[in-house]
Amino acid sequence: MRAIVKTAPGEGHLELKEWPEPHPRSSEVKLKIAAVGICGTDIHIIKGAWTCKPPVVLGHEWCGTVVDAGPEVKQLRPGDRVVSSNPARTCGHCYHCLAGNDFMCPERVSAGYMIDGAFADYLCIDAKRCHKLPDHVTFRQAAVGEPLAVAVHAVIERTSVHAGDLVVVSGPGCIGLLTTQVAKLEGARVIIAGLDKDKARLACARRLGADVVVNVEEQDLVEVVHQHGGGRGADLVYECSGTPASLAKCWEAVRKEGTLAPLGVYPGPITTDFNKIMMKELRVAGSYGYVWTSWQRAVQLLSDGKIRADELISHEFPLEQYEQAFRVTQDGTGIKVVLSPELRNPRVAV
Ligand SMILES: [Zn+2]
Ligand SMILES: [Zn+2]
Repeated sequence: MRAIVKTAPGEGHLELKEWPEPHPRSSEVKLKIAAVGICGTDIHIIKGAWTCKPPVVLGHEWCGTVVDAGPEVKQLRPGDRVVSSNPARTCGHCYHCLAGNDFMCPERVSAGYMIDGAFADYLCIDAKRCHKLPDHVTFRQAAVGEPLAVAVHAVIERTSVHAGDLVVVSGPGCIGLLTTQVAKLEGARVIIAGLDKDKARLACARRLGADVVVNVEEQDLVEVVHQHGGGRGADLVYECSGTPASLAKCWEAVRKEGTLAPLGVYPGPITTDFNKIMMKELRVAGSYGYVWTSWQRAVQLLSDGKIRADELISHEFPLEQYEQAFRVTQDGTGIKVVLSPELRNPRVAV
């Protein structure tokens, strides 16, 4: 089969090549991959800034059709369309696995950087990770299932937004745009912030229902937040960009006794004003990944048409054009960029 393989550690070393087709273990299904999202993590991996185990097939946000199943699989059969979560393997018996948050399992192995992922024609995954897609949810829409599960976990499961709350989302990437949509569904007013290079993403945020859109290179975010937050600041702030400059503004934007949720991945240890947590009596809620219920909600929201997934997908490319796909992801021209193994010609939203 075809696969995009990171062949060696360090920057680059990415190749589209022939790769052995996987065979399902007894509890696994084999999926014919329909669409795979490109994520910021993939860019970190390509730059050599994220641990991976080469040679390895990248791609961790997939959906597809079941084409084969191991003998233990009862709940899925060939022809089923699914999206699936990605701790590909966990121990199943540690505290976190038993408590239902297997993303925290110390033995978690993720597909797409530790073992082979989905930038390929086929992938095998444990059947219990899969969530069936209703017929009316397209694979294109399901390609945002994974980041949507991340946003659901952050907004609904790790923090609680109440109707009328003022929410700030800093960083208008895919996670930020989905966090905005989920917070809006919970009844919040949302201010989303980005940079000059995020113009297309900020315009998308406006279309998706963000109440206020701020380019922080033109306007002072904290001033805007005070205008809309009665001088107090925001009830909840989601830091989705993973940059120290954004985090510095987030400490100022959140109101006393408010909640700050860091969702972005920072380049390494950073210097920040930790006193704000104590002096403003803040709650800080880390959010990383998702649990089973995040996926149930994510698929339900897609099924109900409550998340405008199609608007988020700016580009679809065949596997062969992966270099271009990574380029538009990295330079900010793309919003969500998807690789579709069966696509012949790229599709670009205008
Ligand atoms: Zn990702
Ligand atoms: Zn475990």
